[in-house]
Amino acid sequence: MITPWGFEDFDAHENLHFVWNEECGLKAIIAVHSTHLGPAAGGCRFWHYDDAAEALTDALRLSRGMSYKNAMAGLPLGGGKAVILADPERSKTTDMLHAFGKAVDQLCGRYVTAEDVGMSVSDMIEIRRNTPFVAGLPVEGGDVGGDPGPHTSLGVFLGIKVAVRHALGRDSLNGLHIALQGAGSVATGVAMHAANEGARLSIADVDQAKAHKLADAANGKVVGPDEILGLEADVVSPCALGAILDEATIAALKTPIVAGGANNQLAKPGDGQRLHERGILYAPDYVINAGGIINVSTEYLRDGDASLVRERIEGIPERLETIWAESADTGRDPASVADAMAQRLIGRG
Ligand code: NAD
Repeated sequence: MITPWGFEDFDAHENLHFVWNEECGLKAIIAVHSTHLGPAAGGCRFWHYDDAAEALTDALRLSRGMSYKNAMAGLPLGGGKAVILADPERSKTTDMLHAFGKAVDQLCGRYVTAEDVGMSVSDMIEIRRNTPFVAGLPVEGGDVGGDPGPHTSLGVFLGIKVAVRHALGRDSLNGLHIALQGAGSVATGVAMHAANEGARLSIADVDQAKAHKLADAANGKVVGPDEILGLEADVVSPCALGAILDEATIAALKTPIVAGGANNQLAKPGDGQRLHERGILYAPDYVINAGGIINVSTEYLRDGDASLVRERIEGIPERLETIWAESADTGRDPASVADAMAQRLIGRG
């Protein structure tokens, strides 16, 4: 039997729910890390894991990241996350989504779900059939809702710009080289914003077709997934999966800035210090990628309109500046500074 105790990433999570529905084959984990600031909000990931332990680690890390993200974005939400353990072909059925909706509903609002990797707006519609505790639903006209991806991309783009100003003293991305890992939802928006400002893009995705499609749209160049992090670039922007910055990849980086939308980019807690020691400016992932949850929160809580969402996302650069300023004052790396700030906000300082 798998238990969370002893897992490196277990961090006094409030609840862990293991979901198993034999009829439709749904296997999922819903992790509620903290409800100190409000209902635990965070998307649902649909992914094939090598084993259940890997899925549990992902759920533990992602849900803690959501507590930190929501707190740092000033949202009245706690942190949670769900992972659905897909088969190798990642076959998703409507019955699975309905069963997942029932599981979410049983938590009576302690956990609110939305899209993450492998989940779409249409999946949220199916989940919504069995629970009201879901956001990221389609909307009409100028209402707040829908796919959080473009909002995440906007925040990441603004975060890259402030990092460039901070580290390179430049006000524009014009002529700068950005190495983008991933060509999915978040990466696409980042690439288009950056290309519109004149940035030169190198793009890698394990799905070559997606990489080429995005490179065509953003006038970029496709490079291999194994090359992207080691490219000589002004900015490396990880926008695919997590745990990609470790001892080896950090040693190989040839960039002054790492700023991207992927969750949990640092493989181990000490990796933020490694970046710092190499003089690489790091934008803590859960701060720079909060645009999507800002939109989800505003949709779910109905406490603002599209212009307020934009205003809240435009607060991301200032939060990054605050972290880098404290890092400069104390000599501590930005990831540790952000973690300490977030822990204080969720009452665990
Ligand atoms: P997505 O599924 O649309 O795209 C992810 C892409 O990464 C896919 O195209 C996939 O093929 C590619 N990929 C996977 N492994 C790779 C590798 N080793 N090298 C290169 N490419 C690889 O997902 P997304 O919504 O764009 O999310 C991307 C990241 O951003 C995830 O870490 C997610 O948790 C995070 N994030 C997303 C949102 C959002 O609003 N969608 C919000 C916050 C954080």
